[in-house]
Amino acid sequence: MAKSITKKDDHSGQGAKFLADVHYYFDKAARLTKYEPGLLSQIRNANSIYVMHFPVRIGDKIEVFEGVRVQHSHHKSPAKGGIRFAESVDVQEVIALASLMTFKCAVVNVPFGGAKGGVKINPKNYSVDVLERVTRRYTTELIKKNLIGPGIDVPAPDYGTGPREMAWIADTYATFKYEDIDSLACVTGKPVGQGGIRGRKEATGLGIYYGLRELLAQTSIMKKLGLTTGMDGKKVIVQGMGNVGYHAGLFCQRGGGVVIGIAEYEGGIYNAKGLDVDAVFAHRQKTGSILNFPGAKNYKNSAEVLEEKCDILIPAALENQINITNAKRIKAKIIAEGANGPITQEAEEILQAGGVYILPDLYLNAGGVTVSYFEWLKNLSHVRFGRMSKRLEQTNQNKMLDIIEKHSGKTISKSQRDLMANGADEEEWVFSGLEETMITAFHEINDINNAIKKCPDFRTAAFISSIDKIAVSYDLMGVWP
Ligand code: NAD
Repeated sequence: MAKSITKKDDHSGQGAKFLADVHYYFDKAARLTKYEPGLLSQIRNANSIYVMHFPVRIGDKIEVFEGVRVQHSHHKSPAKGGIRFAESVDVQEVIALASLMTFKCAVVNVPFGGAKGGVKINPKNYSVDVLERVTRRYTTELIKKNLIGPGIDVPAPDYGTGPREMAWIADTYATFKYEDIDSLACVTGKPVGQGGIRGRKEATGLGIYYGLRELLAQTSIMKKLGLTTGMDGKKVIVQGMGNVGYHAGLFCQRGGGVVIGIAEYEGGIYNAKGLDVDAVFAHRQKTGSILNFPGAKNYKNSAEVLEEKCDILIPAALENQINITNAKRIKAKIIAEGANGPITQEAEEILQAGGVYILPDLYLNAGGVTVSYFEWLKNLSHVRFGRMSKRLEQTNQNKMLDIIEKHSGKTISKSQRDLMANGADEEEWVFSGLEETMITAFHEINDINNAIKKCPDFRTAAFISSIDKIAVSYDLMGVWP
């Protein structure tokens, strides 16, 4: 079922534009490094690209679907990246997304190569039963070509897929590879009951919040933007109420931010006094739309919500959303890239000329792959984080409190003990590991941004950080004499 890449695949849709932008950002950063062109070319280009067409019976008809899997980099194993279900999927788009995965993993010190996959399908047009067959058949194509496995390539959710699809993938893989005791580690983002990890579904949005919180703590940057430090009271607009947008909005709100605008597929809503993210989510579940949310103004054209005045804009839907046509009208002071590639290169130039600070996708939405890494580790170790340590921590902490009680002569109440001697469970381990990852990476990038005089922005610094780390691993692989 494999086919070579046709000319149409090379240049169709917005994927080519997205890939050109990723290459533009890479080249801009690469020029500020010391590596020789051959090595940079190896880091830049996709290592392998596989396009497939497979049949699925729907009623009495056969429909043929196009699927793609790109492994952008094998500098570390396994390769890792989500699977997208969208009509817009094309090869160039998947290459762009796989490239970003390589750079993203390196930026946040996750030891994987980058990959990405997709199926050209609008999931809204198909029943759950058909989606299951499409997912299982796509997985089978990957198994046939040895393009999936705990040490080879580990998919995850992306736009249009979620834990349900990941469970189908894990089950299909385990059916074929029943002798592989690590088979659950072939995919991440699974439901917790099927080998997933607590905290994965929140991870990308929470990572966005941690990254924003770190930026907002930088006094000199905030001064330049005319903002106070901290999330408290910051006005936030979110595009996309899917996994990433919902959680990013929710954690910003919990951190003291005020979500004033939400844009979705069907339209947008705005309320200068704030929208409760959970209430909007529940309203959409109930009515099928975010529109007509009590107290909010409706926008038929959801893109207009992005142009409202705010401190932080979080595009968390798809690529190319902020482009040459609307960039001039964006009034946000900070853009936090929840989605991959939401700003085109031309739009970035316009935004930066207007003083907008951009936190780029390859850093900011890396929370998902970070916690996917934790899930993979959990699956390989066959033990839940905290299982071996929770009671031990509780016992040791209680012993410490006993000593404090004895020496101070004061009684520590049960509620105080419960607070101090609780032992971390899986979610706490995961959130703590994610927080550490996002903070460390922020400062690695920020230091590069400050140290390299000619470094123009945080995105370029993130690419440099990534290129440095990948170049080192090629060195260790003995490529250089
Ligand atoms: P999702 O399918 O859960 O949600 C996307 C949402 O965006 C949907 O609700 C959809 O209706 C909405 N949307 C689509 N077009 C829109 C438009 N024009 N205006 C407003 N809303 C629109 O997908 P997701 O997992 O949240 O992924 C969103 C983005 O984040 C993608 O670019 C993806 O690659 C990226 N990303 C996802 C993860 C993850 O862990 N899921 C991790 C890193 C990056």
